[in-house]
Amino acid sequence: MQLHTGHFYWHRNMERIPRYPAVTRNLSCDCLIIGGGISGALCAYLLGNRGVRSILVEKKRIASGSTLANTGILQYANDKTLTSLIQTFGEQAAVHFYRLCREALVDLKEICRELAPGFPLHERSSLYLASLEEEVASLRREYETLTQHGFSVEWWEEADLAARFPFRRPAAIYTQGDAEIHPFALTHSW
Ligand SMILES: Cc1cc2nc3c(=O)[nH]c(=O)nc-3n(C[C@H](O)[C@H](O)[C@H](O)COP(=O)(O)OP(=O)(O)OC[C@H]3O[C@@H](n4cnc5c(N)ncnc54)[C@H](O)[C@@H]3O)c2cc1C
Repeated sequence: MQLHTGHFYWHRNMERIPRYPAVTRNLSCDCLIIGGGISGALCAYLLGNRGVRSILVEKKRIASGSTLANTGILQYANDKTLTSLIQTFGEQAAVHFYRLCREALVDLKEICRELAPGFPLHERSSLYLASLEEEVASLRREYETLTQHGFSVEWWEEADLAARFPFRRPAAIYTQGDAEIHPFALTHSW
């Protein structure tokens, strides 16, 4: 499957891209990890830390899948809002999932600092913007759901945005504690 097309950014600012040996003989391990993107690399790293002998195999090149096209943004808030997850899976499961994502973000920051110190992680804040006036009510609902469950976010009105940015939007949720990483370097660092 072709995962992406076009020109990519991440591999261009790495001086040396590591090469890895082909599998030419039978090998044994406790855990075989299939796929050398950021998910496989992080699994290999975490399993290795726990003493599990693992082998990672990649059919193309390491970090050449969607990891190469990744924007490098770490956020606990998902593409699916907490409000819509609650509607689909119920409050307990949805809130538990969001909390796990928040914890994972903390762990990922630590792993990045440890594994790829040459490619520093940048702490970032995020804005979830309402593009249109009609979207404000549902965005406000998401803000209230997040705060009700202990997620630290701020509600910004149009004037708050206008005071800080050269564009206008009717409202936004402002989140701190997100981050930007170099997914390609991190994948090659484990
Ligand atoms: C444009 C874009 C932007 C994104 N931005 C973000 C972002 O900012 N933040 C974020 O968290 N997520 C983002 N994502 C999602 C992101 O891609 C994933 O979070 C992450 O990179 C996925 O990594 P992965 O290791 O699961 O998959 P991949 O990087 O795709 O790795 C899977 C690997 O498995 C290999 N493989 C498949 N089948 C086999 C097989 N049978 N044998 C051996 N190897 C095999 C493939 O060749 C590939 O290298 C973005 C995705 C896209 C497309």
